[in-house]
Amino acid sequence: MYNLRDIAIFPLGQENTEYAQYFTGTSYLSMLSTHGVVIGNVTFAPGCRNNWHIHNASRGGGQILLVTGGRGWYQEWGKPAQALQAGDVVNIPAGVKHWHGAAKDDWFIHLAVEVPGEDAANEWLEPVTDEEYRKLP
Ligand code: MN
Repeated sequence: MYNLRDIAIFPLGQENTEYAQYFTGTSYLSMLSTHGVVIGNVTFAPGCRNNWHIHNASRGGGQILLVTGGRGWYQEWGKPAQALQAGDVVNIPAGVKHWHGAAKDDWFIHLAVEVPGEDAANEWLEPVTDEEYRKLP
């Protein structure tokens, strides 16, 4: 297993306690910018993932994930999970139920860009169960 520092580009930040209730496992958050566009660096420990959630907005909005390290997953409700690695870009439209997180045996790091929108708000839903997560290769 490599050292996390070998794959991290942006600062790890602090343990993500503010959103821990919406995550399974341990994650870290470093806010990189709040200048017009909010960009956070999110690091997921192996096995860590966020709950199903929706980035709501009445106009515009959504989220862009820019993967910088490790291996992880993105899944939209009703669709197969997509494997992610450094260099992958995921455009998540507003209103789409989804989750993202690490592979069970790898760290996963992405920048999360909040696409500006009107009435933008995150709606946190149920966790990705161990049963669902364990099915992933
Ligand atoms: Mn999201």
